[in-house]
Amino acid sequence: MAEEISTPAKDSETPPPAVTTESGSGRVDVPKGLWTQCPKCGATVYQKAVEEALHVCPECDYHHRIPARTRIKQLADDGTFEEFLADLTTTDPLKFEERLKYKERIRQAQQTTGESEAVVVGKAFIRGRPVILAVMDPFFIMASMGAVVGEKITAAIERAADENVPVVVVTASGGARMQEGMVSLVQMAKTSAAVARLDEAGGLYIVVMTDPTTAGVAASFASLGDIHLAEPGSMVGFAGPRVIENTIKAKLPAGFQSAEFMLEHGFIDRIVHRSSLRTEIARIIDYSGK
Ligand SMILES: [Zn+2]
Repeated sequence: MAEEISTPAKDSETPPPAVTTESGSGRVDVPKGLWTQCPKCGATVYQKAVEEALHVCPECDYHHRIPARTRIKQLADDGTFEEFLADLTTTDPLKFEERLKYKERIRQAQQTTGESEAVVVGKAFIRGRPVILAVMDPFFIMASMGAVVGEKITAAIERAADENVPVVVVTASGGARMQEGMVSLVQMAKTSAAVARLDEAGGLYIVVMTDPTTAGVAASFASLGDIHLAEPGSMVGFAGPRVIENTIKAKLPAGFQSAEFMLEHGFIDRIVHRSSLRTEIARIIDYSGK
């Protein structure tokens, strides 16, 4: 089967040199924005090559975190994504204030990401199969789950049940949103109940875990899929390793909380390279007969 979104053929355009030395001064300049350093292997790579490889490092295969809209563009068939609940924003139930007022923190996140909240939901087609797609944005307050994220995830799952189409949720989250306190924790139960109703209705629920899928999100809808896929190298787990080590007073095994470790221990069904995600999701939908 041909993969539509594998790395496109090499551009004829030659990348500019990574480093230029100004004659005389001996000063070394790196052109801004053209080159990027991989946080995993340290290689200096041409930014455009990384983008063309779906934001995966061409040297070491490191899967960069990506904004929700980029993910949607990568997963959904061109022009098919129809968003719903785009304007939902938090009511700031606790009038929370830390270093910044919560409302101000939200405003800044909206400004930097261009999103109203930490998840984008809508209807789409993936290789011709209709789905409800929910994608978390790791750049929006670490895609933490407050009332809005809980509501949008719940609505996406309910709509999938109503319309009898599969739901695909791409997770990336630091967990519950502390600025919404108990209101945020309730979302764990609310989203889980929606998954249970979808299950009763015979729906198909596919989770794609990306880096990082942790805490209150890992402990609710992210762990309740019929199928759990994960991107290579993603961190998946509940509490951070240091917290656990301090609590149980024991050393944790190497690679603990990596997607690969979770696959070995049966928590994840399959690790899928970003370039194969569309094919894999379409294949699962076909197998399920949905
Ligand atoms: Zn790399």
